[in-house]
Amino acid sequence: MDRTLIEESAGKIGEKVLIKGWVDSVRDHGKITFIDLRDRTGILQCVGQNLPKLTSESVVEIVGKVKNRPEKLINPDLLTGKVEIEVEKLSVLSKSKEQLPLPIDGDGLDIDEEVRLKYRYLDLRRKRLQRNLKVRSNYVRYAREFLFEQDFVEIETPMLTKSTPEGSRDFIVPSRVYPGKFFALPQSPQQYKQLLMVAGFEKYFQIARCIRDEDPRADRGYEHTQIDLEMSFVDREEVMKLVEDMTVYALEKVDAKIAKKPFPVISYDDAMKKYGADKFDLRSDKEKKEGVLSFAWVTDFPFFEKNDEGGWTFTHNPFSAPINDEHEEWLMSGKNIDKIKTAQYDLVCNGLEVAGGSIRAHKPEVLEATYKIMGYAENEIEESVGHMIESFKYGAPPHGGCAQGFERLLSAYLGEDYLREVQAFPQSGRGRTSVMDAPSKVSNEQLKELGITVLKR
Ligand code: ASP
Repeated sequence: MDRTLIEESAGKIGEKVLIKGWVDSVRDHGKITFIDLRDRTGILQCVGQNLPKLTSESVVEIVGKVKNRPEKLINPDLLTGKVEIEVEKLSVLSKSKEQLPLPIDGDGLDIDEEVRLKYRYLDLRRKRLQRNLKVRSNYVRYAREFLFEQDFVEIETPMLTKSTPEGSRDFIVPSRVYPGKFFALPQSPQQYKQLLMVAGFEKYFQIARCIRDEDPRADRGYEHTQIDLEMSFVDREEVMKLVEDMTVYALEKVDAKIAKKPFPVISYDDAMKKYGADKFDLRSDKEKKEGVLSFAWVTDFPFFEKNDEGGWTFTHNPFSAPINDEHEEWLMSGKNIDKIKTAQYDLVCNGLEVAGGSIRAHKPEVLEATYKIMGYAENEIEESVGHMIESFKYGAPPHGGCAQGFERLLSAYLGEDYLREVQAFPQSGRGRTSVMDAPSKVSNEQLKELGITVLKR
């Protein structure tokens, strides 16, 4: 007998069906037992006589007849509220312990995070998180669909790569084959996607994992996923339009409401004057209540800012190009450094930065000049971005791209305060993994093989 999904059961009145799922709740009235059975599609009431004692969250399969419920027992809140199953046979496939370590029926927001993440596989059974992850999956699906339609190629870039100066601290991985040498996990695919433009792909995207050793915060963890893309022969407006069209397409497919289309564009200087920040919330009180998403692009950022030592560092991305020929000329000659603007664009939504990108420097001398302004000596430039400069000497097309931190975007849409609520197995606010207890010790043999001695601190 084939399995019937719960959402299909209402269409099978009078038929004998096989259903499988979790015991959402049991009401034992002596001879008669009511079970609410849950599968991925819904909840269905099953009524049986002389059933064995069942614990909630056990996995069972039931064979029985689909019947209309008596009029007064109809539950208008359930898709399957008009029907029930008369149990003929019930088998327990996997028994759940009597006591769950955490309740899974509410939104779970008041439960200690360590407990929720230790038992994340149970925490994920709650409705809110089932929905969050399904919306996430659909958002990515539609974004992909849109990009494929636009002739993009999906390409994966390495997870083991080289430590580069991209603004955050790297996670490093020791090499066994080259003791004393290290890989870095990618903070983003930035350099590889530019190399793919040099390689002639013209339109690249990836659902990319980015790993940064930053102190965890509400809207930031060690790992996040972004829709990362890069295009050749484009100007700033073309990339912004592409990202905007993708965002609107995918969001509307998951039933989100967007305040204003096309998205307003505001310069960094105007945003600072008007809102005192480059991230701002344009929603009215009514829009806030209705859960509307309100976007704006911010452009014309300063390229450099002073660092703590009084030198210059980049504000957003060292691989960006200056905004026009005049600014490129300032960059090349090291003039007016505080006035140089970068061809960077950020997308803001409900007060959060949800995407950012730029038109890149594709001429070797421009990238070199950027690093000179930041105080790098010749040999340091060679060591850190020499491979990029070299690649630009073999016909690099003008190019630009963007990355969308869609987890932040979806948190805003789903009304979640934490990025972790839209990730399946996030790290805790204290930087520890879900379910499995890491970071953790490794064996002395492993350390020896890697040539590592752990110092006491
Ligand atoms: N690599 C940048 C980031 O991860 C995005 C980009 O400029 O495309 O923020």
